[in-house]
Amino acid sequence: MRRFRSIFLSLLLFMMFFVPQISMAETLDNNVPDASPAASVPILKSAISLPMAGARATNQLNSARWLVHKDAVEGTSKLRLVIDTSDPVIVSSTLDGNGPQLVLDIKGAVVGDVDDSITLDGQIAEKVRFIKKDGNNSQAVVDLPAMIDDGDYKVFTLKSDTANKKSFRVVVDINKPVPKVVYNFTPGLRNKVIVIDPGHGGSDPGAIGPNKVQEKTVTLAVAQKVKAMLENAGAKVLMTRQTDVDVYGPNASAVDELKARTIVANNNKADVFVSIHINAFSNPTVGGTATYYYQKSNYDALLANCIQDGLVATGGLQDRGTYSAGFYVIKRTTMPSILAELGFISNPAEEKLLSTYQFQQQMAQGIVQGLDKFFSQAAKRGGGL
Ligand SMILES: [Zn+2]
Repeated sequence: MRRFRSIFLSLLLFMMFFVPQISMAETLDNNVPDASPAASVPILKSAISLPMAGARATNQLNSARWLVHKDAVEGTSKLRLVIDTSDPVIVSSTLDGNGPQLVLDIKGAVVGDVDDSITLDGQIAEKVRFIKKDGNNSQAVVDLPAMIDDGDYKVFTLKSDTANKKSFRVVVDINKPVPKVVYNFTPGLRNKVIVIDPGHGGSDPGAIGPNKVQEKTVTLAVAQKVKAMLENAGAKVLMTRQTDVDVYGPNASAVDELKARTIVANNNKADVFVSIHINAFSNPTVGGTATYYYQKSNYDALLANCIQDGLVATGGLQDRGTYSAGFYVIKRTTMPSILAELGFISNPAEEKLLSTYQFQQQMAQGIVQGLDKFFSQAAKRGGGL
């Protein structure tokens, strides 16, 4: 993987992560005008604003509304509930241990003109009830379909915005919890669905060595050998590409290209995903094998360790270890996934090795051994996340 590409991917991941947040704020600003991000005062878990001098004694909850925002990129949903109050309030929140409920204690405002209860669509919350607590304070009880974690919600307040005729607001954001996949691996390679992703291809050569060996050529050659060995062992193998092509299409955006590779794995309910790459560095003496994973489950690091061990055992290059990394293809695939950097194409000795049939065969053998070891070790862990 070329260095600039890694940097580009990092930038891309940064954008993927933050752009939806921004667009959500924009969407909500359009659809629920009360959620202007510029005026927001986000305080995790509690939102405090001291009553203004001269605040009316009849501070009350005036109205409430909600919106569920779906993020097409992340595949996630978020509920935003907005409660209008006449004046600032102090809000604290707790997840009720007795049932799936989020309880907001709203100090300084009584239940006023707001409806006693609002029925939502049930995706993230079922109902919000506004309850009188005493002469000065109220509660909002959010009934949830299932219990959520502390990290799944936040509560904050928004100042009044006279220019836009918006009152003081209490905002509750609740993320729809992502269902956790339960794995139940069995030992052996037979009948396993394994996706092999030969890095780069077509219009994208990947890294190029000092003697012009291209990364895309080596990754495909090794992947084809892995495929043959795995099929021989009874596994079902899916390749993101079988020839020298772009997976999405020529000169596609980096996201489309990488996403196309993850779709192959996600749509076919693969057991594991293995992406094959060759490293490159400015210093030609640097060499060795490294494997990357993204910790989505308890199995990603195990898969990386098993394959790294296999590659080092059969290839004999320097063991550079395993690392957690946010590369797109290992982050966006839903099953345990790794990205192996077999060696350094920028190192003339490794470039030469990587272009030989014999060494490619050794690398493929290492990956297959690693997969076999993974399934036997994962099976010992039994079912679990
Ligand atoms: Zn690469």
